[in-house]
Amino acid sequence: MRSQKESPMRDPLPGKRWKGNEITPDEQFAILLRGNWKCAYCGVAMDDPDFPARDVTIDHLVPRKEGGLTVPENLVPACRTCNSRKCHRPWQDYAPGGARVRIERQVAQPLNLALAKLVRSGKVPTDEQL
Ligand SMILES: [Zn+2]
Repeated sequence: MRSQKESPMRDPLPGKRWKGNEITPDEQFAILLRGNWKCAYCGVAMDDPDFPARDVTIDHLVPRKEGGLTVPENLVPACRTCNSRKCHRPWQDYAPGGARVRIERQVAQPLNLALAKLVRSGKVPTDEQL
C-alpha cells in the first residue's frame, strides 16, 4: 500500500474535512467535459441521447470512506453500473488496463471551469450574434 504522502488524492485527515457535496454544479459539468462525457471505466458515451441522465454519476477514485477527497484529481465521470460495481475496491483493480492510463491522464488535466460556466450560463453566442 502506498503511503499517504505519495497520494495527493488521499486526505491526510480522513473524515475531518468531508462536508457532503463540496463540488459545485459548474465543477460537476467541468468534470464531465474533461472526461468527454464518457464513463472513465467502460467508456460508454453518457452524452448519447439514449443514455439515461440518472445513470450519469461522478465517481471518487479513492472512496470518501477511505479519505478520498472531493477534488478534481480524485473525480471522474462514471456510469451508474460501473460506479456501483466498483464499490469500494481500489479503482486500479476495477479499471481494465487501458482505462487506468486514460484515467491517470484525465485527472492530471485541470478543469476548464470557465468553459463549464459559459455553457451552463446559456450565454454561448450563436452565429447570428457573432
Ligand atoms: Zn461504465
